[in-house]
Amino acid sequence: MTADPVAIARNLLRCPSVTPDEGGALAYLNDVLAKAGFDVHRMTFAEPGTAPIENLYARVGSEAPNLVFAGHTDVVPPGDPKAWSHPPFAGDVAGDVLYGRGAVDMKGGIACFVAAALDYLAAQGGKPKRGSISLLITGDEESVAINGTIKLLQWAAERGEKFDHCILGEPSNVAKLGDTIKAGRRGSLNGTLVVTGRQGHVAYPDRADNPIRGLVTLIAALQAPLDRGSDHFDPSNLEFTSVDVGNPTVNLIPGEARARFNIRYNDLHSQTALKTLVEHRARDAAAGRIYYAFEWQPSNADVFVTKPGPFTDLAAAAIAEVTGVKPKLSTTGGTSDARFIKDYCLVLEFGLVGQTMHAVDERAPVADLIALTAVYRRIIEKYFGS
Ligand SMILES: [Zn+2]
Repeated sequence: MTADPVAIARNLLRCPSVTPDEGGALAYLNDVLAKAGFDVHRMTFAEPGTAPIENLYARVGSEAPNLVFAGHTDVVPPGDPKAWSHPPFAGDVAGDVLYGRGAVDMKGGIACFVAAALDYLAAQGGKPKRGSISLLITGDEESVAINGTIKLLQWAAERGEKFDHCILGEPSNVAKLGDTIKAGRRGSLNGTLVVTGRQGHVAYPDRADNPIRGLVTLIAALQAPLDRGSDHFDPSNLEFTSVDVGNPTVNLIPGEARARFNIRYNDLHSQTALKTLVEHRARDAAAGRIYYAFEWQPSNADVFVTKPGPFTDLAAAAIAEVTGVKPKLSTTGGTSDARFIKDYCLVLEFGLVGQTMHAVDERAPVADLIALTAVYRRIIEKYFGS
């Protein structure tokens, strides 16, 4: 028996699972995995102010080590379906390319792992040679990520589930399959700088205190580099994303000016130290003449790195054997659910090529789906033995 990743991917793509809708995607996976001998659990997590979201955990085997594959079946909206050359939820294959919302991010990756696991289990008579294979699949990754992986991991820990290593199937590759393993992510922190002045008539600036002047000074000071990068990361970066005064009047000096910013930071900083650094720089630049405050948003996206070791070596070897490409370990890009998983076990990310993710005509070559299935199959074999 050889499980077909393209057929599984097409079935998943036909489920319109735009966050928070399950769209039939988890029900389908439940069915496929249960038939293959997995013990499947479906949980709905909820919290006031957010939509309840369905999640899935499946495991075959009861012993350690437990290799877990993590992923999400939810997708971002397709936008105008008429802009697509193939309908976003049809799962069309044309010219050896699979089209659809989620083809690379990341129903394609899930389909490849499921096919690889089913194929391996069939070859082993239904059970891994040792240990356990698990899937941790959420429907809440693309949106607020509150009722998803973070709660799924807590749920699993409460039932005594232990994870040894995790592969997150996000589209990690940049240009071709095999080029990149994501082995860590930068942290992300959002803040707002608020400068207070005194409102007044624009013709009498001596009677007012324009906060825009102070804001400009502080913004300039905060553009200085935060570091020069570390062994595993590019330099951290503070980027202003909006400057807001909200003043509709031409002859009025406003009383307050605000600027929002985001910091993507590396492993040279903790969130606390980073806030202190930014606040010190502002204090020096203000020199007691500018009245300002920082509003920091809570962040659950802390920096982490999975250092090169036996697990990354095993994955890199499997990738090289199948694709002929030697992957590099990268920590670039946005955050992912790996930021939650890293608190439970070593995690790396490897999936399809990310070029069309979230785009119109999101698509994956059939050849990539077949190669990724072979990579996952090889990782499983190396991990458990064949
Ligand atoms: Zn994704």
